Amino acid sequence: MNDMTALSMQDLLIDGRRVKPLSGRYFNTVNPATEQVIAQVAEAGVEDVDVAVRSARKALDGEWGHMKASDRGRLLLKLADLIKRDEEELVMLESLDSGKPVSAIRRQDLPAVIDTLVYYAGMADKINGQVIPARADALTYTVREPVGVVGVIIPWNFPLMIGMWKMAPALACGCTLVVKPAEITPLTALKIGELALEAGFPAGVVNVVPGFGKVAGQALVDHPDVDKVTFTGSPTVGRQILQGAAGNLKRVTLELGGKSANIIFPDADIDAAVKAAGSGIFFNTGQVCSAGSRILAHADIYDEVVERLAARAKSMRIGDPLETSTSMGPLVSEVQMNRVLSYIDIGRGEGARVVTGGARATDKGYYVQPTVFAGVEHEMRVSQEEIFGPVATVIKFKDDDDALRIANGTVYSLAAGVWSADIARVHRFARQLKAGTVWINTYGPTDIRLPWGGARDSGFGREHGDMAIENFTEPKVVWINTGR
Ligand code: NAP
Ligand code: MG
Repeated sequence: MNDMTALSMQDLLIDGRRVKPLSGRYFNTVNPATEQVIAQVAEAGVEDVDVAVRSARKALDGEWGHMKASDRGRLLLKLADLIKRDEEELVMLESLDSGKPVSAIRRQDLPAVIDTLVYYAGMADKINGQVIPARADALTYTVREPVGVVGVIIPWNFPLMIGMWKMAPALACGCTLVVKPAEITPLTALKIGELALEAGFPAGVVNVVPGFGKVAGQALVDHPDVDKVTFTGSPTVGRQILQGAAGNLKRVTLELGGKSANIIFPDADIDAAVKAAGSGIFFNTGQVCSAGSRILAHADIYDEVVERLAARAKSMRIGDPLETSTSMGPLVSEVQMNRVLSYIDIGRGEGARVVTGGARATDKGYYVQPTVFAGVEHEMRVSQEEIFGPVATVIKFKDDDDALRIANGTVYSLAAGVWSADIARVHRFARQLKAGTVWINTYGPTDIRLPWGGARDSGFGREHGDMAIENFTEPKVVWINTGR
């Protein structure tokens, strides 16, 4: 499929049907590799979101609300099968819409989506309460009920994968969904919504309302009949969501940004460390919340790390995301490209040295060269603020305390990595690093079985594992007076 044969018009998906937006408006979605429009997508307005929320509420009270938990699990498995069947179409859509290399989507995103579905399919009928013998004159127990209508707000960096991290556990718990994909990557969420219908999820269980964050996203956050919002995105929007959610005291989970430290000691396997540091910052063109964007190298190996990292940056195969040999695609949008280029200017202005990269890579498409900054000081903006692009900052440290101080010295607490053969040191760092995940002698893997999230400006709450079940259920105590 190329841009010309791609879909032209995409309507909203509400109550089991594709519907024209009440707003009457459509917006363009663009392939960032070619700058060409690939589809026109219905723009949900406030009224459209309201119709979707009502559809989700109705579905909650209907057949879906009475379904056996194991049948919900079967539907999730069926959805996994359909995704597998249509894998190549999903890979193409995700790649055209976001600029992600097809090889990366096949290797990572799609398998993670299926793993997530299978994992939560198995959990659907294991969402247990407890019998808690509180008193002699009563039978007291808890049950976990679905939290209700969930607003799912998805970022553009992993539309399929992060979308499913939210949708699968919410559905396993028996919730109904109104999904708002990012405006620049709306296509795969619509396709997943259609596959959910085909799998047999009743109408209204999965509604998809593309549109703009300030309108459709905000309408979802403000809606008095939405019980919960699960959000992944920037800290700025995370704060707006908290304010909006105050209206009806919605429950909120926030997965926000990061400026993660990847710390390399001289006693580490330097080959492995530099390789992982390279993919830690250049994977997905650096548009990863847990990107190892600050590489902390000990003074004794600083020059070597800089040099070898620069060599890795130069060896990245930048190009057409549809080519299987491409290892780095464009940034997701012109806005994002300009943001990254402006941070490169800021870094230069602050006195950091561009060792390699530092400019736009092509005339057409939103490509930026993989960039390595050396001579970076901890206080610089490029070392404190999330750039969300292929820009590595390499910071020198002198000892363990210095490394810890720098690593913990940002507003974020999402992830960190440590490379060392010293077993006491890595355990000490695991304890003292402020992060939701600490990787030791590796960088970047995630698994649906392990809790994911952060603290401070990285947000709060955890996704994945059985923690996600708490996100989408409400506990209820039943107290039966039995008398003595
Ligand atoms: P964003 O601008 O915060 O947008 C995220 C989503 O929120 C989009 O769907 C957006 O819609 C919507 N939105 C915007 N304003 C809204 C509002 N007022 N009310 C409700 N929804 C609204 O973030 P992004 O630029 O897409 O993603 C990059 C950020 O996400 C980075 O900071 C990154 O670190 C973070 N991230 C975190 C994780 C994690 O797991 N912790 C994972 C991935 C990304 P529009 O697209 O229409 O603006
Ligand atoms: Mg796009």
